[in-house]
Amino acid sequence: MPIDATQPYDDNNIFAKILRGEIPSNKVYEDDWAYAFEDINPQAEIHILVVPKGRYVSWDDFSAAASDAEIGGFVRAVGEVARMKGLVEPGYRMMANVGAHGGQEVPHLHVHIFGGQPLGPMIARRG
Ligand code: AMP
Repeated sequence: MPIDATQPYDDNNIFAKILRGEIPSNKVYEDDWAYAFEDINPQAEIHILVVPKGRYVSWDDFSAAASDAEIGGFVRAVGEVARMKGLVEPGYRMMANVGAHGGQEVPHLHVHIFGGQPLGPMIARRG
């Protein structure tokens, strides 16, 4: 069920539990600002999620409320993960779903990184 991206942060969301080490994940990368792990239900050959360590519901919340250091650290981490996985030369896609129309299901900001294959059209065709 898609979430309402204007809701307050919920410390019981599944990515908060992953960050606290309460449930397992396949870690890809970690630094002071971000944690990256494999998506449990991959939509491409490579499908990684990058989450900020801070408590942010969505890209909207993060872009409005995070510090410049958090934003800089997180953006650099997303780029680093793509480089680490060798995705720059073949190319890749990144995506952050926000709220109901975006199809966001987990209320902790996450950037999807897709790669390892041609990724097709940007979004589902209209009609
Ligand atoms: P979104 O629809 O943008 O909120 O994406 C949520 C993503 O989280 C989906 O691609 C799920 O497959 C993924 N996901 C949900 N639970 C887990 C989990 N425990 N470990 C890794 N990925 C997960």
